[in-house]
Amino acid sequence: MTNKDLADLIFPNITKTIEDYEKEYPERNLKEGARVTRFAPSPTGFMHIGNMMQVLINFVQAKNTNGVFYLRNEDTDKSREVEGAVDMIMNVLDFYGLNPDEYEYKGKIVGNYGPYIQSERKEIYQTFVKHLIEIGRAYPCFCTKEDLEKQREIQDKSKVRTGYYGRYAKCRNIPVEEAYNRIKNGESYVIRFKSLGNFEKKFPFDDLVKGRVELPENDMDVPIMKSNDGLPTYHFAHLVDDHLMRTTHVVRGEEWLPSVPLHIELFKAFGYKAPKYIHTPLIMKKDGDTVRKISKRKDPEALMGYYEKMGYPKEAVIESVMTIVNSNYEEWRTAHPDAKFYEFNFSPKKMSTSGAFFDLDKLDNISKNIISKKKATEVYDELLKWATKYDTEFADIITKNKEYTIEILNIEREQKKPRKDYANYSEIKEKIWYMFDELFDKHEKDYKYQSITDADEIRNLVKTYFEEYYDEKDDKDVWFNKIKDLSQRFGYAREVKEYKENPDNFKGHVGDVSTVLRVAITTESMTPDLYEIMRIMGSNRLKNRIENI
Ligand code: GLU
Repeated sequence: MTNKDLADLIFPNITKTIEDYEKEYPERNLKEGARVTRFAPSPTGFMHIGNMMQVLINFVQAKNTNGVFYLRNEDTDKSREVEGAVDMIMNVLDFYGLNPDEYEYKGKIVGNYGPYIQSERKEIYQTFVKHLIEIGRAYPCFCTKEDLEKQREIQDKSKVRTGYYGRYAKCRNIPVEEAYNRIKNGESYVIRFKSLGNFEKKFPFDDLVKGRVELPENDMDVPIMKSNDGLPTYHFAHLVDDHLMRTTHVVRGEEWLPSVPLHIELFKAFGYKAPKYIHTPLIMKKDGDTVRKISKRKDPEALMGYYEKMGYPKEAVIESVMTIVNSNYEEWRTAHPDAKFYEFNFSPKKMSTSGAFFDLDKLDNISKNIISKKKATEVYDELLKWATKYDTEFADIITKNKEYTIEILNIEREQKKPRKDYANYSEIKEKIWYMFDELFDKHEKDYKYQSITDADEIRNLVKTYFEEYYDEKDDKDVWFNKIKDLSQRFGYAREVKEYKENPDNFKGHVGDVSTVLRVAITTESMTPDLYEIMRIMGSNRLKNRIENI
């Protein structure tokens, strides 16, 4: 009885060989230096900001080198799978314009290296497992969960390293014939890799981010195929898929770094060249005075859905994640303000090795800058798109008042130094609500008067202004002069300077008077340019506003 007999017993239906697949998925015909990258999420329903960072690194590398960026759905752990998870991933990639060149979605395969869904690749994995059994590098293991637990306890007690290795790898020496018969008798089993490593020896390898890393050789006989569904474990699927799909650079979280010796041993067992590895650091955030790992349970901003819900423009999110991808990104951006983010030359060496610090304040700054440079019509379109999904009442209002809203959004915009007041689309409403009667009428009103607080004085100023000075047709200079005239008439200085020189001669100054008008109209003491607000509102709306002052 030979290994081949055992392999045939386990996989009677596998008739292809690894060479067949080698031919089916040949080396990609790309020019020298082109990188093949992939995003390989498990469909667990989360898209973490760390995943976004990985996607960007993959995307940028593929673009930089005229390579390929593909998406692979790693759904071998059926118990963790969440419905709709793949749609969510596709939507995020699409929303940010990070569409993969190759993928599989809703039954459609795009690309020649598919299927791109692991559960559809069972036959391929099994062909590779079969090969390993034939060459004596994999074997069935009959240990039950209880056997393994018991062994772990013994190892713990005797203070030796836990795991399935060396003399603890009980099933590795079962004679082929015995294994054959036990399987025939219906005993259940997993398939384990037979490691040839020695834990006492060092295993140096290069991670493109961390440089030379030295870990012990792998000596664990890890499971490569599970018993319940015949699907591979992550380690084995990584080997098969990244080899056959001809991945050149694997970008993944640093939790996989300790597995590299095992992975390289797997590649070697087949005589394949392992891909290059880029292990991405954890994402950190500030929490009070400390910096800690961002957590998908505690921090809403850990998940990508947050940014869409908050209405951050996609360029702003990409831009701020790029700043943690490489330490020289901001410098590059300053030198190339109009370049596309993917023209940036990614360098793994310029990536943090200790943790990437993601800062929401920085995102806000980046975002304010980006929104301030957009045309009012573009802001309007994006605001409407956001509101249609997240605030339908506001979407209705700005749809009915389209030109009016664009005018509002255009205040202090489309000029050399535009006003940077919106960090995202969800905060626009709370900044311009008073411009819309529909919102104004039902809004709770807290008139934030400042230095002038006497109700009679306020009423007098406002009424006099609107009865005797206000004229819709005034240009800005005339408008302002009239407010100065009003100020003077009521005993306030026409100029702030004048007031500061002789404060005892005045009740206050022109700024105090215009604040009264501003608050009477909007309730707010801080608003964009008051002349513009009044011009856009027009006399009817203004007169209604001040009726009850
Ligand atoms: N499916 C793995 C994960 O979600 C992917 C790791 C990799 O990119 O190889 O962690």
